[in-house]
Amino acid sequence: KATQRLDKLLAHTGFGTRSEIKLLVKQGAVEVNGKQVKDSGLQVNPQKDVIMVEGKRAVYKEFVYLMLNKPQGVVSATEDNRDRTVIDLLDDEYAHFAPFPVGRLDKDTEGLLLLTNDGKLAHNLLSPRKHVPKTYYAEVEGAVGEEDARAFAAGVALDDGYETMPAKLNILVPGDPLLGKPSKIELTIMEGKFHQVKRMFQAVGKKVVFLKRISMGNLLLDEYLSPGEYRELTEAELAELQ
Ligand code: URA
Repeated sequence: KATQRLDKLLAHTGFGTRSEIKLLVKQGAVEVNGKQVKDSGLQVNPQKDVIMVEGKRAVYKEFVYLMLNKPQGVVSATEDNRDRTVIDLLDDEYAHFAPFPVGRLDKDTEGLLLLTNDGKLAHNLLSPRKHVPKTYYAEVEGAVGEEDARAFAAGVALDDGYETMPAKLNILVPGDPLLGKPSKIELTIMEGKFHQVKRMFQAVGKKVVFLKRISMGNLLLDEYLSPGEYRELTEAELAELQ
């Protein structure tokens, strides 16, 4: 449908709830094509009509793109019977977009998770054939060494026999098993099998004790986002993803 109610449209463009918008319209703060309107149920065409609220143009958006720093303890799903989901972390103003997580992080994994309602973008990022690189920061029990980097570069066999594609291991701080200090590493993988990072370390006899995704394709986790915080992608970030 080309037209929709003015109050509904404005609620979708971030000018408040429907009742707040009704009030704004009553107060005469809303203009359509240069004319003040008093009926919040007016049918408008978001593509054609110029709608201004207190002098600001209301731009209709179909899609939303959110970068979340997923905290531990929430699941990467839209609904769950037992656990809180990443969608539960969002403000109500995003509900009408019906965003969903692009891919999954384990319940105990932190870090970069993209939430969107743009199915095409999600499909492109997740397509196994595209090999979108994903980089993780991990803390691993014991001493991760160059032999592990060589094994990951060549590919390792997971517990189900699957041979992983070449992955890049970067050892940031070697661990010290005697002092009980974990190794701090970064690992970049070009695929996304179930529990892949944990299972790759399991394949070389080591255990991941902390896992955080820090990038996906060109998209880097904003270091100013604490776990549980999110923000919309910038135009530049979105352009690089598409
Ligand atoms: N690999 C894992 O093991 N877990 C994740 O959440 C992501 C990648």
